[in-house]
Amino acid sequence: MLQDKPDLPNRERLAIEGGDPVRSQPLPWELPGAHWIDDEERELVDRVINARSPFRFYGPEPQRMVDTFEREWCERFGHRHAVAVSSGTAALSIALSTLGIGPGDEVLLPGYLWVSCVSAVIRCGAIPKLLEIDETFCIDPDDLQAKIGPRSRAVICVHMSGAPGRIQEITAIAHGRGLKVVEDCAQVAGGSQGGRSVGTFGDIAIFSFQLNKNMTSGEGGLLTTDDPQLHRRIVALHDLGYPRTPAGRLDTQDRSCQLWGYGARMSDLTGALALGQLRKLPRITAAMRSAKWRIREALAGIDELGFRHVPDPAGDTGPFLITTYADAGRCEAMVEALRAEGIRGPEGSLACLTMREWGLHWYFNIPSLVERRSNDRSGMPWSHPANAFAAAYDYHRGALPKTDDLHDRSALLSIASCLSDRDVDDIIRAFRKVAPVVLGDR
Ligand SMILES: *Cc1c(COP(=O)(O)O)cnc(C)c1O
Repeated sequence: MLQDKPDLPNRERLAIEGGDPVRSQPLPWELPGAHWIDDEERELVDRVINARSPFRFYGPEPQRMVDTFEREWCERFGHRHAVAVSSGTAALSIALSTLGIGPGDEVLLPGYLWVSCVSAVIRCGAIPKLLEIDETFCIDPDDLQAKIGPRSRAVICVHMSGAPGRIQEITAIAHGRGLKVVEDCAQVAGGSQGGRSVGTFGDIAIFSFQLNKNMTSGEGGLLTTDDPQLHRRIVALHDLGYPRTPAGRLDTQDRSCQLWGYGARMSDLTGALALGQLRKLPRITAAMRSAKWRIREALAGIDELGFRHVPDPAGDTGPFLITTYADAGRCEAMVEALRAEGIRGPEGSLACLTMREWGLHWYFNIPSLVERRSNDRSGMPWSHPANAFAAAYDYHRGALPKTDDLHDRSALLSIASCLSDRDVDDIIRAFRKVAPVVLGDR
């Protein structure tokens, strides 16, 4: 594509054409919370070790790290109840079981998501139904309106890549039609919209503290809800299916709560790490948001370079800059040229890439979904008689034309939580250098 360019007299040669790159050092690793782990986390973890009490419910000298983490989370973000768990994936399964979802039900999901959203639906025996995304890269409310059917029980609203989409419209539509809303906030911890924290719009929200997320405890997750009845089920389901007494022992005799648990408790060691990270989450997201929007604003007005629509930039947590292009060719050429300029992470990082390289985030890249795989010999959930309604549901590429189009012509740049001013300037310089050449008229 670049060979066709006329030789412009005054332009710098791009690195991809053999010119000098904007930078030679890789950008820092993404992994937002990990950069901030320091003595604060160490001190909390040490307390658990010194007490020899890594279990949250009882022990020689419980340090109540998970309890404190849940309480501080609620105070900070305005949730009524929070239950910490072992992962975001477990949290999703627990959320769906809390709502009683199973065979005969369908759960609506966007086509841009994470594989865990789908696997949670499948493992509870229900059927996933795909929804288009719009330029927010989250659910398109019009498509939700159009696709709600008699089997629809819930929608998982996934706040992708650091910022919420049209969450108020989505919850209004879903609630108006009798559906429950699960907010998947795994990628947007610390985010908000209109001054209201993510996770406070729907019926249940889930978070993840895996290494790639805004804050991390290595592994970990959280469920939040304002409804005391749902909270009670979450508490039992995340554990062994039963509530616990104030002394931390199981209460199996309460006939109103005898369920099947997921065994997804958070240990107090993990709780200590999560608590330390929670206390610095506002600083982590402020760093990313500020760097991201400095870049975005500096690039506004470049012809042919588009951006994801973020309804409320003040509530964006900033870990990703999503750019959009006229077509797949320009998108790929742009990413290639940027990488050549040194806009890339260390070996193994995924700092600068096209959405085509973003794997299990796109519905048609999930082989188990496209091929309707099952964990068991009976072929659940696809084979369940109550799920016969979904026989013709299609998960191949092409099922969501608008989503497919956004996939083809968009790219993602990770914004590390420790970018220096120099890093930010280099990113801006590289975009400005390559965009006019790569995106100019052909
Ligand atoms: C990471 C992620 C999850 C799963 O979290 P784990 O803690 O890795 O299990 C779920 N949903 C989304 C959108 C995610 O990005």
